[in-house]
Amino acid sequence: MRGYELTIYDKAARPVWGIGLRLAAFCAFTCLAGIAQRLPVGTIPPGNRLMIIEAHHDDHTWQWGFGGLAARMTDQGYEGILVRVSNDEKDGDDGYPHNDMVNLRECKAAVAHIGIDSVISLNWRNDYMDSTPLQELRAQLILLIRKYRPDVLMAYDPWGHYDRNPDHRKVSRAVAEAYWMAGYANVHPEHLRLGLKPHRVPHIYFTQRGDYGKGHEPNVAVAHDASHVRRKANAMVAHRNIYHQPQTARSIRDELRKQGLHVPELDGLSDGEAIDQIEKWYMYWSSERYGRENGLDYAEVFYQRAEWDHRPGLTEYVKNNAVSQ
Ligand SMILES: [Zn+2]
Repeated sequence: MRGYELTIYDKAARPVWGIGLRLAAFCAFTCLAGIAQRLPVGTIPPGNRLMIIEAHHDDHTWQWGFGGLAARMTDQGYEGILVRVSNDEKDGDDGYPHNDMVNLRECKAAVAHIGIDSVISLNWRNDYMDSTPLQELRAQLILLIRKYRPDVLMAYDPWGHYDRNPDHRKVSRAVAEAYWMAGYANVHPEHLRLGLKPHRVPHIYFTQRGDYGKGHEPNVAVAHDASHVRRKANAMVAHRNIYHQPQTARSIRDELRKQGLHVPELDGLSDGEAIDQIEKWYMYWSSERYGRENGLDYAEVFYQRAEWDHRPGLTEYVKNNAVSQ
């Protein structure tokens, strides 16, 4: 499948211009973010379990998601758990209860494509999380971290530039506090009486929406392959309640038709098939873009930290002096 190379043709089959406001916005973002130099290429850390904690059912998707990384890690034996913090009641046109149920169901179907078979929903009210007590949310996340003891945690970046989505801000801050506080026995000792033990997550990957604020500052690129891109594209279109919008494809093609243009790859497809195809192209385009910028075929970029990165002197000492027992 072709990715970002999708080209729109006029009647004489001459290439005219590349598709999409979103692609243009993404180009602008990458320029603003200064992704001109290659990032270090990250390796998959050792471990058995990854946990994605995200505000919404679909935050693992798009070019700022974790789909390729998660698919690669589950291929290598990782078990995956996704925590949906909100109830997604505002995502969809059929009322709050319906949206909650359908979005959760589609979230489970989506992450199955990238090898994750466990979804936990905390069901805080979508877009109204400002009034959610941070300490309460943090306590829930600490409990989950202690229960499932992930080796890798993925979330939105709490230290990134302003994210206008209030749920993203709330959840990312709670995650950043929970992932290290879960390691201290004096924090929520009531959890220990349940038989849980402290657990500090060794590795974290943070990302951020590229179309909000001034963008993200990644420090690592992680490669994935064509099968991972295909699976994360399938994961994205599985969110049909919000992304399957045939009228969008229809309006795009109507507008092109007025200008005497068409996209050959979409000819013969229904509007529903066309919008699914467009969404999949977008996932290929973003993976290829990050890959090309970092000398890889396909990639995602993250702000990645390991447990001892905050003590670089100790990390260096252990690296140079540790010996086998
Ligand atoms: Zn979101």
